[in-house]
Amino acid sequence: MVKISAIRKHEIHTGHRVYGHDGKCQHLHGHSYIIHFYCSSTELDAIGMVVDFGIIKSTLCQWLDDNYDHSMLIWEKDPLANEIKKLDSKVQIVPYNPTAENIAQYLLTQIAPKLLEGSKILVTKVIVEETLKCRAECELFQPEFGI
Ligand SMILES: [Zn+2]
Repeated sequence: MVKISAIRKHEIHTGHRVYGHDGKCQHLHGHSYIIHFYCSSTELDAIGMVVDFGIIKSTLCQWLDDNYDHSMLIWEKDPLANEIKKLDSKVQIVPYNPTAENIAQYLLTQIAPKLLEGSKILVTKVIVEETLKCRAECELFQPEFGI
């Protein structure tokens, strides 16, 4: 059995503050994030695709544009959340401390299943590149692929 993936990446410009970090990431700052969505299957459709790349764009990438691009991600449990929220309408209060790891996990386990509900598309991995050197990956365990 093989696993075939259709992968699309999307760039967003987003700020965050990592609560509890003892280095410079505790401060308000931003990144040019590159988010990679892996859609995988054990078989292709009638024309030889896992999924049309355009569908990844119109669902997952569009959600990033609508919700995270040019916004500031602040954890709901951050003690400064309410104060920061007052500063700008694009502050996004999120249910996780906005590390690259947590962004990847949230997109994979919460957002992708919701956006793709009712379709046959399975997002199996999300990569969040925070810088050219640093990225986080979150991947589903896939017993059907022997992983
Ligand atoms: Zn950062």
